[in-house]
Amino acid sequence: MRRPVIAANWKMFKTQAETRSFFNRFRSLASSLRHCDLIIAPAFTALAAAVEAARGSEILISAQDLYWEKEGAWTGEVSAGMIAEVGCRFTLVGHSERRHVFGETDDQIHRKLRAALAAGLAPIVCVGETLSEREANQTEDVLRRQFNSSLTGLTAPEFSRILLAYEPVWAIGTGRTATPDLAAAAHGLLRELASHAYSSASSQNLRILYGGSVKPENSAALLAEEEIDGALVGGASLDPVAFAAIAKSAPGGPLEQNRSV
Ligand code: PEP
Repeated sequence: MRRPVIAANWKMFKTQAETRSFFNRFRSLASSLRHCDLIIAPAFTALAAAVEAARGSEILISAQDLYWEKEGAWTGEVSAGMIAEVGCRFTLVGHSERRHVFGETDDQIHRKLRAALAAGLAPIVCVGETLSEREANQTEDVLRRQFNSSLTGLTAPEFSRILLAYEPVWAIGTGRTATPDLAAAAHGLLRELASHAYSSASSQNLRILYGGSVKPENSAALLAEEEIDGALVGGASLDPVAFAAIAKSAPGGPLEQNRSV
C-alpha cells in the first residue's frame, strides 16, 4: 500500500496570525495521524510562519505556485529557490485556478515543474477536466494531454519525487464531489499513463491524490479506493478539526484501527 498523503490548499486565505492559530490547534490533533503524510500549502506571505509553526512536527509545508526563472525582473513572482529557502519541501503546480483563472498553459506548467525539481522541491502536479470536457467525453484526452505535456522527459529519480492530484474542475469549490468510482477510474488512467511514460514500478509507486470538495463526510469512501492515495483539500482544510478528520479517515488511520478491534 502506498502511504496516504493528505494535503491542504489554503488558496488566498489565512494571515500569519491565523496560520499560527491553525497550527496551535492542528499540532495536537496531528499527533495521532502518523499513518499519512500531512502537507499544508499556505499563501506565500504565511509560508515562513507555517514553517516555523510546524517545526519539530512531521507536518510538511508547500507553496501553491512558483515562477520558473531563478531571479530577475519578474515583478510579483517568486522563484523555486526562494520557496525552498523558506523551508518548503513541496509546491503545487498547475492548480486548476492557475490554469483556468490565470490562463496558465501546459508549457508554462512544465517549466514550473522543472524549476521546482531543480530547486529540490517535490511538485504536486494538478490535472483535471472541466465540466464541458467531461460532458463531451473528453476526460481521457484531457488527462492524457495534461500528463504528457507537463510530465514529459523526466528521469526516473525525478519522476519518483512527483505527486499527482486529480482534480476535476467541476468538483473544486462547488460542493460537488466525484464519486469514488469515477475518481478511481481517472486515477487508474493516470497510473497507466505513468506506466507507459516511465515504468510499471514507477507507476505503482506514484501517489495520486483526489481533490474536489473533499470533506469529513465523504473522505472515507474516496480514500478507501485502492487507486486513491490521498486528498488535496481546499475549503475543508481551513478548519483544523475538519482537516484532521479527513486525515483520520485515510487507510491505516485511527478510524480503521478502531474498526478492526
Ligand atoms: C483545491 O483547492 O485544490 C480544492 C480541491 O478545493 P475544494 O476542496 O474546496 O474543492
